[in-house]
Amino acid sequence: MNELTDFDIVIIGSGPGGGTCAWALSSYGYRVLVLEAGPAYDPHTDYMLDKPEWEQFKFPDRAHYKGHYAYGMMQKLESRWDKLRSWNHIHGRFNKTDRRDISGYHHMRGIGGSTLTFSGEAHRLRSDSMKMKSRFGVAADWPIDYRELEPYYCIAEQVIGVAGPDNDPIRFRSKPLPLPAHQHSYSNMRIIDGFRKLGMNMVQNSVAILSKPYDNRPDCNYCANCNRGCPRQDKGSVDVTFMKKAVDSGFCTVRTDCQVTRLEAGSYDTISEVQYVDNKGNTNTVSGKVVIVSCGAVETPRLLMLSENRHAPDGPGNEYGQVGRHFMETVSWVSSGLHPEPLGSFRGISSDSICWDYNAPDAITGVIGGCRFAIAASEAELVGPINYAQRVVKGWGRAHKEAMRRSFGKVLTVSSICESLPHDQTFIDLAPDEKDSLGQPVARIHSYVDDMALRRLEFSADTIREALHASGVEEIFEEYGTYDFFSSTHVFGTCRMGDDHRESVVDRFCRSHRWKNLFIVDASVFPSTGGGESPSLTIEALAIRTSEYISDMAKKGEL
Ligand SMILES: Cc1cc2nc3c(=O)[nH]c(=O)nc-3n(C[C@H](O)[C@H](O)[C@H](O)COP(=O)(O)OP(=O)(O)OC[C@H]3O[C@@H](n4cnc5c(N)ncnc54)[C@H](O)[C@@H]3O)c2cc1C
Ligand code: SF4
Repeated sequence: MNELTDFDIVIIGSGPGGGTCAWALSSYGYRVLVLEAGPAYDPHTDYMLDKPEWEQFKFPDRAHYKGHYAYGMMQKLESRWDKLRSWNHIHGRFNKTDRRDISGYHHMRGIGGSTLTFSGEAHRLRSDSMKMKSRFGVAADWPIDYRELEPYYCIAEQVIGVAGPDNDPIRFRSKPLPLPAHQHSYSNMRIIDGFRKLGMNMVQNSVAILSKPYDNRPDCNYCANCNRGCPRQDKGSVDVTFMKKAVDSGFCTVRTDCQVTRLEAGSYDTISEVQYVDNKGNTNTVSGKVVIVSCGAVETPRLLMLSENRHAPDGPGNEYGQVGRHFMETVSWVSSGLHPEPLGSFRGISSDSICWDYNAPDAITGVIGGCRFAIAASEAELVGPINYAQRVVKGWGRAHKEAMRRSFGKVLTVSSICESLPHDQTFIDLAPDEKDSLGQPVARIHSYVDDMALRRLEFSADTIREALHASGVEEIFEEYGTYDFFSSTHVFGTCRMGDDHRESVVDRFCRSHRWKNLFIVDASVFPSTGGGESPSLTIEALAIRTSEYISDMAKKGEL
């Protein structure tokens, strides 16, 4: 079916990129259509946290909404990095082979994208991490600097309701955060103390989790299960913030269960049509004056590559072979240990405390690229009895029961996320021999962790082990890292923004260098990742800035 009623703007995907554009552009009064491959979740009825069996379920994703991916050959593991193998004291090594294994690209399909399941961290990038090429000769410089993005960070923080500390000596802010920071939880005070003994400083984290009622949403109840979906809606995921406001404006139409299969590149350097398959299996086309692709850093390059035609033989935006290149993943480490005292460590938000001391790109001696440390018992799922029984407490029967009673609430967990830099061997292409349910080639993820990344991980692992012991932890019982597993929640870089059209896919306003009505607004456009800052707030700031540009161009008749 060819839809004759055109929209001003067609947005593909409704995560932080697409959902924020939908809000900003509908608030300007444009007629916006959002096409989303996944469903709309209802926090009141779909999430499981008020059910007795809550721990058996992760986010209630339904199998057919999962993306399907292929992977290139993973690298061989080397004995010199054995200290970075993932293990558990009951199960031994998680990866029993001598080759890196695949845990996956962790993401969510649905209105709100991966913020449905995210931990709520709302970080700004630091300015020196945006100039990695000119400072260190790696990755690429952002074509904009922090000051250009700053006002848009402020807007995003107001909409989602960020709670955090007022003073951030690294990241200048022109407006205070809307909400006060969450207090450090009782158990996290031990970890903060441990870091202090190493001469390091943990501070309150900035999170899109309400510390007070805000914008008709209640404050948090500290149930420590943000990754299972927040039934109270105090977590500022995109579905309950930007997308809700977009729909409430009356200018935004949303179609769920609609997988976009192709963009039609036309003869006048414009995208003339968007083709999608709806929930009944029908193929439809729709057009808009502007098309915004926001499918995330794995699906966005896939969609562009699937859209080849005679006007765009390698897919729109791929004139210089840049689409899919420069893939950057999550480089992370997490260690968990048992403290002797009862700490109630199953309570709190995902991560109320964070250490930025080694976040600068040159902070770790002899290594390019920084990292950050944070509390992570909730993200590691060590907040419920089933996980304790399977991962923390050994043995069977009565002894096991008694040990469970003694151990519950005593786990302390710290994680690190590090800078990820692009590499010749990290990219996305189309799988030659794997197709999705619609018969289209799936995205194939090529990942590689080089020695510099492993040295960042090594520094993280050593520091976390020391900090846990300094916190009073007697035994570390589990560690998990991305040396022996590909396991990514933050993905970036596959449609880089830049000033040079031969080395990037979009310009400084996220507009395709060639296809004048095509914009890409998601984590694909990041030229570098930062030293472990969580990306959603930066994606949202970029989306608000791009939307303002689209509106300005439209008013001048240049779109
Ligand atoms: C467990 C977990 C914890 C995280 N914690 C944090 C955190 O604390 N803070 C933070 O900032 N970030 C966090 N992240 C990462 C963050 O969620 C992502 O970086 C962010 O959501 C990426 O936004 P995006 O707009 O690029 O893409 P996505 O959020 O992936 O959204 C893309 C959307 O496009 C849709 N789509 C894809 N292809 C198509 C198609 N062909 N047609 C139609 N629709 C399509 C998808 O269904 C999806 O809804 C976390 C992620 C996970 C998985
Ligand atoms: S900790 Fe707070 S934000 Fe997270 S799921 Fe529970 S109530 Fe929601």
